[in-house]
Formats: sequence, structure tokens, C-alpha cells
Amino acid sequence: MRLIQYRETEAGPVRAGLVEQDRVHELAGAVFDPPAKTGRSLALEDVTIEAPCAPGKIICVGLNYKDHIAETGAALPEAPVLFMKPPSAVIGPGETIVLPRSSRRVDYEAELAVVMGRTASRVKAAEALDCVLGYTCLNDVSARDFQQKDGQWTRAKGFYTFCPMGPAIETGLDPGGLKVQSWQNDELKQDSNTVHLIFNVPFLIEFISGIMRLDPGDVIATGTPSGVGPLKDGDRIEIRIDGIGGLVNPVRLGE
Ligand code: MG
Repeated sequence: MRLIQYRETEAGPVRAGLVEQDRVHELAGAVFDPPAKTGRSLALEDVTIEAPCAPGKIICVGLNYKDHIAETGAALPEAPVLFMKPPSAVIGPGETIVLPRSSRRVDYEAELAVVMGRTASRVKAAEALDCVLGYTCLNDVSARDFQQKDGQWTRAKGFYTFCPMGPAIETGLDPGGLKVQSWQNDELKQDSNTVHLIFNVPFLIEFISGIMRLDPGDVIATGTPSGVGPLKDGDRIEIRIDGIGGLVNPVRLGE
């Protein structure tokens, strides 16, 4: 299944939808509820696609690809390095990433994001994927100078617009072998595969759900491979993942 959130008009409500070919079928509930079509459908080109869920929590994994660890100079982690992004940072496809003038360097980070479908509390890795709704693209936009300066990452990772997600949640994917890329102005910058994750998705769900309860709609960003680099005013950045598609966002310098 391919699930989205969309708006029919600028002022209209955000609805959950099921995409089939070039149409979106309105769903009665939230994106993570059992899909129940209301009977209304629209051409996909007539709606505005929003971020595919409204997470209560966005839990991110730092340093989860060996090649990215090498480029940062960090040591190989013994356990996943976790941090969180605020839900207020979420934007959808086509929305603008705003570079804060206070930062000298803001990077893109292509990541596979896991969207939870069920509550997960202390689940084992063997049952972890039963709690997953599906997968989407996420750009873990990061103010690298603040990340290095602050020692903890809340400011660096938490600015408005620093969490583009989308365009859709794909439910039928195997998270263990997906190509993950970023394209900056049509130039390939990151090109890896989730097969190279140090901590895979089932392990991450067991690890995180042993610390905090994961709720439907919550998101886990699984980390970025090597090739991160700075964004600049006027850029177009795309995160592309096999089976999900491309998440495209324009970039501009803030006021
Ligand atoms: Mg990241």
C-alpha cells in the first residue's frame, strides 16, 4: 500500500489517503488506522501532498553507517546513538527548507524513516516489524556548526523546516536492502543502501522500545550514509529511496 496525507485546498483539512495508480482514495481514519475508503477519490495531481504522518516523536539514530562515521572521524558506536527532532520541524514534499542566518553550515542527510503502525513497548527484534506501518524518506537537516559546538544536538537538529518527510509511506518494503540517495540540484551526493546499516530496523525498534514507548505515527530516522554536505540558498535537494520515490524540497536563506 502507498499511503499519503494530503489537502484538497489550501485551507482544507489534512486527510489520509490511499494511492492507487494516479488517484488518491480518501480514508476515514488516520494514516495508521486500518484503511477504510470513504468512497471519495481525487486525481493525485489535484491535491497537495503533505508530510505523510504527524509524529508525536521523531527518534533519530546518529552514526549508523560505517562510511559516514569515517567521514565524521567519530568512533564506531557500541550502541545506537539516539537523539530527537521536534515534530514542529516536519515539512512535506515541496515545502521550503529555511536556512537560519545564525548557522554557518546546514547539511542535508538522506535517511530511511520507519513509521510506526502500532504501539511498541519493549518488543523483541523478532516481532518488531509487526509494529511498523511502513517506510518513507526523511531529510535530517542539521546545523553542523551548532552540532559540534553544543555537545548535544537539540538546537542543531531542531530548527523549523529541518525535518522534511515524504512523499508517501510504503507499507510492503523490506527495510534491509533499500538504495538511499540524495541529489543536490540533480547531482548525486549520497548513494548507499540500508544493507550497510550498523544497527538494522528490527534491532533499533527493540532498542528504542526498551527505553520509551513508540506510538502509531511515531518516526524512527535510521541514520545517514557518507556524502553529507552543505545546503545553500536556491538549492533543490532530493532524497530518493527505492520503492518510495523522491522527496524534493527547495532551500532558501531565512530572513
Ligand atoms: Mg542523521
